[in-house]
Amino acid sequence: VVSLESIEKSFGDTEVLHDISLSVRRGEVVAIIGPSGSGKSTFLRCATLLETFERGSLSYGDLEVVQSGVDGRAVYAGKTVQREAKSRFGLVFQNFNLFPHYSVLRNVADAPIRVQKRDKAEAERQARAVLAKMGLAGKEDMVPCELSGGQQQRVAIARALALNPDILYFDEPTSALDPELTQEVLRVIRDLAAEHMTMVIVTHEMSFARDVADRIVFMADGYVVEEGAPDQVINNPQHERTKAFLAKYE
Ligand code: ATP
Ligand code: MG
Repeated sequence: VVSLESIEKSFGDTEVLHDISLSVRRGEVVAIIGPSGSGKSTFLRCATLLETFERGSLSYGDLEVVQSGVDGRAVYAGKTVQREAKSRFGLVFQNFNLFPHYSVLRNVADAPIRVQKRDKAEAERQARAVLAKMGLAGKEDMVPCELSGGQQQRVAIARALALNPDILYFDEPTSALDPELTQEVLRVIRDLAAEHMTMVIVTHEMSFARDVADRIVFMADGYVVEEGAPDQVINNPQHERTKAFLAKYE
């Protein structure tokens, strides 16, 4: 579904991603873990074209969005290709980023109608269905501030799903939530995993990552230090850096 190869990214003189590669197959769930400042968010922002990177390549399926030039320098495709790529993924952040003055239904149905130019009635029908699946039936006419944080985050997930993405990215989807609300959000992500939704999830919820992910990627200081099956990385880490990080979650 997505392939990133040898990504290098700097802010000014500081290189924050060093030769990072990740390929995700259809139906696969990848969890990215690692200490604060290790580059997890920056990596997701590069994969979703919110940041540009200097070296490496990126493709979504057959769409080559960024190619590695002769000297390895990243060469970005034109606007049309970038727009097409953006239609293939959804993104869910820590802080929901809902439109505060739109109803729940409009938050979910707006982009399908305005961006994808879908029929309004059909898009609203699908939005209601996705909201129901997120456990939010009956909340369609409320505005975000009338909902709990967990409910708002589930609206944000519904909004991403309504665009029928090939892959969903999550950046610490529960880190702004109380433990109880965290569990209800993790539950819907587990349900999506059970339906073989392709997902890349940055999370500090280790037991969740171990249960849900097919593969764990451990990042530190802008490097992928270790990756593999959850059982291998979490229960039997090979690198000192991984062991030290996981020890904090015991
Ligand atoms: P956390 O777990 O705290 O969210 P993270 O793994 O997501 O951390 P990033 O936010 O990707 O880490 O940051 C990686 C490094 O890049 C950090 O050293 C950070 O200070 C730096 N950085 C991130 N964004 C910028 C920016 N816009 N300008 C300059 N430096 C940045
Ligand atoms: Mg982050």
